[in-house]
Amino acid sequence: MTIGVVGAGQLGRMLALAGYPLGLDFLFLDRSADVPAAALAPLLVGEFTDRALLRRLARRCEVLSFDWENISVPTLRAATRGLRTRISPPLRALATGQDRLAEKRLFERLRIPTTRYAAVASRAALERACERIGLPGVLKTRRLGYDGKGQAVIRKRADIDAAWEALGGAPLLYEEFVDFELEVSALGVRARDGSEAQYPLTRNWHAGGILRLSVAPWKSAALSAQARSHLRAVLRDFRYVGTLAIEFFVRDGRLIANELAPRVHNSGHWTIEGAVTSQFENHLRAIAGLPLGSTAPLGHAAMVNLIGRMPSAASVLSQPGVHLHDYGKQPRPGRKLGHCTLVAATAKERNQRARALLRHLALSLAGAP
Ligand code: AMP
Repeated sequence: MTIGVVGAGQLGRMLALAGYPLGLDFLFLDRSADVPAAALAPLLVGEFTDRALLRRLARRCEVLSFDWENISVPTLRAATRGLRTRISPPLRALATGQDRLAEKRLFERLRIPTTRYAAVASRAALERACERIGLPGVLKTRRLGYDGKGQAVIRKRADIDAAWEALGGAPLLYEEFVDFELEVSALGVRARDGSEAQYPLTRNWHAGGILRLSVAPWKSAALSAQARSHLRAVLRDFRYVGTLAIEFFVRDGRLIANELAPRVHNSGHWTIEGAVTSQFENHLRAIAGLPLGSTAPLGHAAMVNLIGRMPSAASVLSQPGVHLHDYGKQPRPGRKLGHCTLVAATAKERNQRARALLRHLALSLAGAP
């Protein structure tokens, strides 16, 4: 079976790495030939808006999936019209995941607590939103925002000008600034027959809007129960097929949904070494119509993102028990180039080893475990 993947970044690359042992083949589509998944599978090069190219991709595969969510849903729908190719995850989830306003509305409809927000389409609407929601707050582009891009914090009224200057012109969303205690993500998978599995809760640390560190399982019975029920509600509402992640803030012991990703997610990379079945393999099992694998953890995992500058493999691997994933990308400030993972027998040992790894990589992270 051939899996077509729109987008050939590191997520696509790790999908292919997980899929070959299952006997799956891959065909990617991306805008450049110099992309992480190109080393693993054939690649069609062209724009994501190129209907004819998307149709060529769809014709050559049984299932079409994606490794990033900013693909035009109408184009994808038109490109696959009349073909037998299945699209997984479903297009409704893709459409929701690419618009922050649609995400908020979904969370509200499913009674999942989320940040207070207002849609902003003009400078006057931004003034009114700041008035109604209060300061500080975060102005975000509704679409195409990731890794903290397309965001501006508004702390005082005098910041409104600069925020509007930077982001005005695109449809926006203003939301309260959440003074959170911590950030967690819930990751789960749903198969075509409706069976589901959820990974244990993951705790995440971001810096400058980019994920730096994840540890799992994050053992909090109360938070895990909330996350399970929220994730289940979203998976069922979409009649979802594949892996899906929801990122939450935690304030006063309650989860507040920030955003969802209708795909495999950076905060789930620890599952490659740290769970019986990785998020990548489970995504593929789900979309290929295979039975899901166990999401049980194999210990206590930590995952550190390698951003902007790639340490040498020898340096990373000199740390006992540390696994390296190099995405083969050119270094650039703020760019995710790879990650490394360790799995320990206890949470205490994991935290100690994660701290030692961060020190070894000369990374400082406020509040790290
Ligand atoms: P996002 O692209 O929405 O996931 O934002 C990236 C990161 O920026 C989050 O993981 C938080 O660390 C921070 N952030 C985003 N929105 C807010 C908010 N409303 N309040 C506080 N921090 C935020």
